Amino acid sequence: MNIHEYQAKALLKSYGLPVSDGRVVLKADEAKTAAGEIDGPLWVVKAQIHAGGRGKGHFKEPEAGEKGGVRLARSVAEADLFARQMLGRTLVTLQTGAAGKQVNRIYIEEGTDISRELYLALLIDRKSSRISIVCSTEGGMSIEDVAHDTPDKILTITVDPATGLQDFHGRRVAFALGLTGHQIKQCVQIVKNLYRLFVEKDADMIEINPMVVTKEGSLRLLDAKMGFDGNALFRHPDIVDLRDETEEDPKEHVASKFDLNYIALDGDIGCMVNGAGLAMATMDIIKLYGAAPANFLDVGGGATKEKVTEAFKIITSDPQVKGILVNIFGGIMRCDIIAEGVIAAVKEVGLKVPLVVRLEGTNVDLGKKIINDSGLNVIAADNLSDAAQKIVKAVKG
Ligand code: ADP
Ligand code: MG
Repeated sequence: MNIHEYQAKALLKSYGLPVSDGRVVLKADEAKTAAGEIDGPLWVVKAQIHAGGRGKGHFKEPEAGEKGGVRLARSVAEADLFARQMLGRTLVTLQTGAAGKQVNRIYIEEGTDISRELYLALLIDRKSSRISIVCSTEGGMSIEDVAHDTPDKILTITVDPATGLQDFHGRRVAFALGLTGHQIKQCVQIVKNLYRLFVEKDADMIEINPMVVTKEGSLRLLDAKMGFDGNALFRHPDIVDLRDETEEDPKEHVASKFDLNYIALDGDIGCMVNGAGLAMATMDIIKLYGAAPANFLDVGGGATKEKVTEAFKIITSDPQVKGILVNIFGGIMRCDIIAEGVIAAVKEVGLKVPLVVRLEGTNVDLGKKIINDSGLNVIAADNLSDAAQKIVKAVKG
């Protein structure tokens, strides 16, 4: 689960990290007051969306002189104007995709006089199963190019969980970033506090880009992207409170409400499967036969008819889905429950695309009978590869 920059900065502040004074603005009328509460002479007006690259982004149908989702203002009046211009507009960045994201919140922040822009991130390195610190002297808006063109300018330090974070980790970061004097001490403290925040809140990513050296020579965190492990949210109600549902895929949101493990993907074959392993295998075999899955969906072991119905509705509500493959191995899950769920859902929302059903296991005969008796136009399949071939053929012809 991701949060907005302004929420991330509030968290950073609560961990004693150096962030600037700022105010969030939800309605245009609040912008002037918010800007007025912040000391000048420089204000930064920042669109809040769950995507980076805002500074280099552009608005759809831009007005004259309008630039990007991060703008420097020289007066309260200008900050107010920029905030009003951005609210409600659609911002397109490298990370939003072509559709862009609607800006519903603005953060107005005190402007910083920047001397250098650095990159600092903490993330979970899946290869080593450890927390890694990633840093670079080339922070700022072109970090993607740096990663691509000069990857040697990015340093990764892995933290051994047996020792946890030590001061030497922070010093290595400081030296890699070319920091001197009291900045080194400050950097060690920053890395320490970021690590503590990361572990205590079960984050899976904290990206500070840029962390800057100010003209006065101290460090400050000017941008923050934070993500949290969805499976650990149950123990962090304070983080759950930060959820902005408008930023999430509505299908994934409904799925989480019904406790379904659903992830939207790019392909055109909707999948309903029980068990994460079988769901992965189903996605693989769809690929093997030349198509791509539209989603990952694990309805779980003990799904009820209602849950299956909801799952099916989520799949059919996706305009990308050109065909559906139901692949169930009835162990704890019974095939007749799946059959009833599918039929209930089809009765409610209709079926406009081909549907292949492969059932195996507990109550398989009853399940098949329920589907056959339903009069629905279902293509039956006997095994996994037969099912995959049939749905790919039905979709691709
Ligand atoms: P994004 O990464 O989405 O483009 P950032 O918050 O990193 O957004 O802002 C883009 C750039 O704007 C930064 O690299 C920095 O140069 C500048 N910037 C951001 N916040 C401030 C600030 N408070 N004061 C001065 N400059 C800022
Ligand atoms: Mg940034």
